Amino acid sequence: MKTNVLGYPRIGAKRELKKAIEKYWKKKISAEELLEVGSQIRRKNWILQKKSGIHFIPSNDFSFYDQVLDATMTYGCIPERFREIDKNRSDLDLYFAMARGLQEDSFDITALEMTKWFDTNYHYLVPEFAKSQTFELRSLKAVEEFKEALDQGISTKPVLISPVTYLFLGKEKEEGFHRLDLLEALLPEFYKLLSQLSAAGAEYIQLDEPCLAMDLTHKELTAIKTLYTDIAEKFPKLRIILTNYFDCYGANLETILGLPVHAIHLDLVRCPLQLNDIIDSPTYKGKQVLSLGVVDGRNIWRNNFDSSLDLINMALQNVSIEKLWVSSSCSFLHAPYDLDLETNEKSLPAEVKQWMAFSKQKLKELVTLSELTPEIPTEEAAMELVSNRRTFIDKRISGLVHHSPTKQRVQSLADTAGKRKSAFTVRRYEQGKKLGLPLFPTTTIGSFPQTREVRSIRRQFKNKEITSTEYNEFLKKETQRAIAFQEDIGLDVLVHGEYERNDMVEYFGEKLEGFAFSGNGWVQSYGSRCVKPPIIYGDVYRDKPMTVKWTSYAQSLTKKPVKGMLTGPVTILQWSFVRNDQPRSVTCKQIALAIRDEVTDLEQAGISIIQIDEPAIREGLPLRREYWNTYLNWAVECFRISASGVEDKTQIHTHMCYSEFNDIIQNIGDMDADVITIETSRSEMELLDAFVKYKYPNQIGPGVYDIHSSRIPNEHEMASLLHKAAKLLPVENLWVNPDCGLKTRDWPETKSALTNMVKVAKKIRSEY
Ligand code: GLN
Ligand code: ZN
Repeated sequence: MKTNVLGYPRIGAKRELKKAIEKYWKKKISAEELLEVGSQIRRKNWILQKKSGIHFIPSNDFSFYDQVLDATMTYGCIPERFREIDKNRSDLDLYFAMARGLQEDSFDITALEMTKWFDTNYHYLVPEFAKSQTFELRSLKAVEEFKEALDQGISTKPVLISPVTYLFLGKEKEEGFHRLDLLEALLPEFYKLLSQLSAAGAEYIQLDEPCLAMDLTHKELTAIKTLYTDIAEKFPKLRIILTNYFDCYGANLETILGLPVHAIHLDLVRCPLQLNDIIDSPTYKGKQVLSLGVVDGRNIWRNNFDSSLDLINMALQNVSIEKLWVSSSCSFLHAPYDLDLETNEKSLPAEVKQWMAFSKQKLKELVTLSELTPEIPTEEAAMELVSNRRTFIDKRISGLVHHSPTKQRVQSLADTAGKRKSAFTVRRYEQGKKLGLPLFPTTTIGSFPQTREVRSIRRQFKNKEITSTEYNEFLKKETQRAIAFQEDIGLDVLVHGEYERNDMVEYFGEKLEGFAFSGNGWVQSYGSRCVKPPIIYGDVYRDKPMTVKWTSYAQSLTKKPVKGMLTGPVTILQWSFVRNDQPRSVTCKQIALAIRDEVTDLEQAGISIIQIDEPAIREGLPLRREYWNTYLNWAVECFRISASGVEDKTQIHTHMCYSEFNDIIQNIGDMDADVITIETSRSEMELLDAFVKYKYPNQIGPGVYDIHSSRIPNEHEMASLLHKAAKLLPVENLWVNPDCGLKTRDWPETKSALTNMVKVAKKIRSEY
């Protein structure tokens, strides 16, 4: 059985590409040097895959920033505002300008918009289309990389984003047309590219069509049908691998099975059941190869060979072995490089490590699975199977994974666990009495500037260059400064500043049981930015308080209320690698209970306002709408469990940013936080509309200034945003705060901005 890899990580085993790109941006290395780093990474990736025994090795999966932006360059779909740059700069600089904007010399041009790649944490650059959009085959990157690999003796499978998915992912920048109408203009250029690839010797082409994992309109599905029919006519020699991932083909399946393509890829990790549907379908007559995506490209766990073999064997009973490939579920872009680089047993215990596999290890898994499929497997593969079974048995009974009190607690959760004692109106009265806040109370979202000094001291502490006493003294001083500053400018609800936190999820992961951390498990998030998600391997519970010390310390310094600051269960789950041996909802409930314990401990310690941040609730939404409710039900329930252990007089806040609220406003309502703060300033309060339409009954703090830029907002603009909000919602429900935390800002701008913000609030109070 042949093995197929959909894509390989490209940032470099030690983030070499990230470093080189950033040096290039700072003009510390030349374009040639950067290109050389790129070609080294490609070569290493190809050789590694070849040596591992992979048959279908991808090319054009490399990118200096983003594969969708690469397609934009390929088809010359350059927005008008970049024309001047195009005339004056190299293609590479034009490319980076589209990715990041350009503010240099006489240029001041904004970047393409960035958005999430399906339900991953990878972000792509959104193509922009004009009504009279034209395309021209402009970059031959795909062809060059194919030839580059061929020169090294490796015949690869070029990976292209299908023209339909490309249009699907973009945005119309003018009224009066649908972007899919541009297909006719785009196709000739796409066909030129296919001709060139074919002329260069490519036999197989992987066409990525992940829009098939979404609910498609008739028009979109018809476009796909036409496309693949046309390709088959025009390029009878090319073998097209139609590739969809992240979910099944769903309602699109029958159409797909009728297409004249060489192979159809199935993400069997996300959707194992679709294999049955295909085998049972009268349309599938064994014409196409099935690429069985059984090795998960989205996580860091070892493959369970027995489960994979069940699927493979089921396919084998119905389809001949020559027509089956064993594959990664999606590109390994979403998994880290190499587990062998992990050597710190303290953060990643050896026992946990042996349950894991990064991309390099996943290559080996693919090959072993393929060697296990003939009637007489190779001896080595048979031994691997034994060891794989052993691993899963060990894991099933490991004391590291299983903590029965936690399981018990989740199982015996009372229905009332997610309910506050009284309704919001009652709570509001009790909280009003206790807190005595003015109209338009002012607050911030939690973090204060993580200056270079703060980060450097934290690093020194981590590297044991300073003692914990020294570190604590430093944190105390910073917290004192933050409290004094907030009192000084007259904020109503203070925060401690989050100086002790590296990251809002990692901080809690390090304090909770059931979490491990890699040293080098980086995954590309966007461009040169990578994230290193914590690893949830076992039952999650809280051994001891996590935040009470710093919150109480801050509270001891002031008579004003200090708001406790926690990350919510859904966000902790969403931004981690999650165990796959139990439903995500169960893991989330465990985290919810741990946060609940922290909330009640904070209350006990005299903290009267507690914020539970949930910025990631929306991004957890499944791709298909039919699954939304199931997810939203448990996600909201988990938040409520974390928030509902307190008395009526304790005020619960939540915070969300980068969210479009329309689709989920009812669920946000169901969260029933006493106060929600949201990001609204960049949209000129447009994001408030959902709350207005829904008649959101609880209190709300629409962000009055953008924290992403160093620009200091003036009183006038903040006042006008507040007036806008006051027209839309009852004034007694409104809070005044920035869009998000201030950790990426500097002190001088933070001081001016917040001083202005408090002034505006005071002034507006006197007007209502
Ligand atoms: N409390 C966090 C902070 O202020 C919230 C961050 C976020 O919403 N992403 O940094
Ligand atoms: Zn935020």
